Amino acid sequence: MRYVSTRGLAPAVDFEEAVMSGMAPDGGLYLPEAFPKRSREAWLALRGRPFAEVCAALLAPFAAPTFDVAELRALCDTAFATFDHAEVAPLRPLPGFAGVGAEVALLELFHGPTLAFKDVALQLLGLLFDALLQRRGQAATILGATSGDTGSAAIAGCRGRPALRIAILHPHGRTSDVQRRQMTTVLDDNVVNLAVRGSFDDCQALVKAAFADPALRERHRLLAVNSINVARVLAQMTYYATAALALGAPDRPVRFCVPTGNFGDALAGHWARRLGLPIEVLLLATNRNDVLARGLATGALSPQPVQPSLSPSMDITVSSNFERLLYEVHGDDAAFVRAALARPAGYALRPDALQRLRAGFAADSADDAATLARIGQMHRDHGLLIDPHTAVGLEVAARHLRGAGAASQAPMVVLATAHAAKFPDAVKAATGLIAALPPRLAGLSSAKERYTVIDPTLSAVAALL
Ligand SMILES: *Cc1c(COP(=O)(O)O)cnc(C)c1O
Repeated sequence: MRYVSTRGLAPAVDFEEAVMSGMAPDGGLYLPEAFPKRSREAWLALRGRPFAEVCAALLAPFAAPTFDVAELRALCDTAFATFDHAEVAPLRPLPGFAGVGAEVALLELFHGPTLAFKDVALQLLGLLFDALLQRRGQAATILGATSGDTGSAAIAGCRGRPALRIAILHPHGRTSDVQRRQMTTVLDDNVVNLAVRGSFDDCQALVKAAFADPALRERHRLLAVNSINVARVLAQMTYYATAALALGAPDRPVRFCVPTGNFGDALAGHWARRLGLPIEVLLLATNRNDVLARGLATGALSPQPVQPSLSPSMDITVSSNFERLLYEVHGDDAAFVRAALARPAGYALRPDALQRLRAGFAADSADDAATLARIGQMHRDHGLLIDPHTAVGLEVAARHLRGAGAASQAPMVVLATAHAAKFPDAVKAATGLIAALPPRLAGLSSAKERYTVIDPTLSAVAALL
């Protein structure tokens, strides 16, 4: 498979180059040149198969010729063995959910080492990097920005791998305690944690600036783990496939509701659909940082200042991965993408592009009050403690199933993106209960931390690399 840049000014590359460089040299994001449709038989052959097998099968056409399916399978087996649940991403039916009548299920994506869905892709990405570096006899530094969950998942995927160093920027004071501690209590020499005085968008801009600096990039051989890395999005297609197949696809349409921030997870669902999975709608759920939801409603995407919310991993107003969809819905028009993203005040989608977008996506937002109410309702009606990101998804799903989505018979799968114990304050405010950490994270609150607080400047980042 070849990968092209959304900005259209860089040559196409193979999987190895797309994974290792993260971002294209023209500042764009790599995108597979094609999405080969799987036949009905090929989908049916994956129904009920182990998660690692499904992942390897889906990745194989995209990773050729860098990795063959047997190599991918071995890496996937290792990556997903770190999960606490044999199914990796189990479905939990929610009978009678919100009285909406539709079949609704949670897709539990939080059984990995750091309790959020990002483990799925980052356990694998760490191994892909390691395998490629070993082949080349090289070492490298992973540089990433996190709104909370990516950082710890990336660190968990890279610690103990001698060919890799990892430096993670997080917004100082804007992650939950558990999120910060999952990063800062990893004291391995190859781990650097930087707390930036600013927002996640500031952190993300710094990482982009570092990658855009050829000297810095060469000196440290920088690798990207943010969801702009195409391998992450590809790996995340796996749970859309396992869930859809379990619910009757390819012979029955399904719907997914995706708590959305940087748009990596939702894009993975869209890519799974391009492979032929019958996904009727991808419902984007945002918190009060609702640029995407308003974009879908109005056709105008205009960044707003970030407002802190109870679902901090979605406190994002510039969704990097949306660039890939922007390119696609404008008919692969890289010139449009370049012009649109050069405008600091935002841009308007072309009317035909907006129409294409609305054919596959719907969106809504839920504020903090609705988030808390939904956590309370889930506990009362289902005896479940859910995290605030998942609550945003469930709230938006409930409204959709009562409104625009009421006519469809397709089951609705809501992605449960984090474990409740990762966001204990919101859960306690809503239910009065403390969500217990799984045994593997006992001791987190008393472990020693190490991180450096820096100003949001590239020179401060460079100095600490
Ligand atoms: C990262 C994250 C999200 C948002 O996912 P994107 O791929 O950035 O849209 C939602 N919920 C949780 C818990 C996360 O960690």
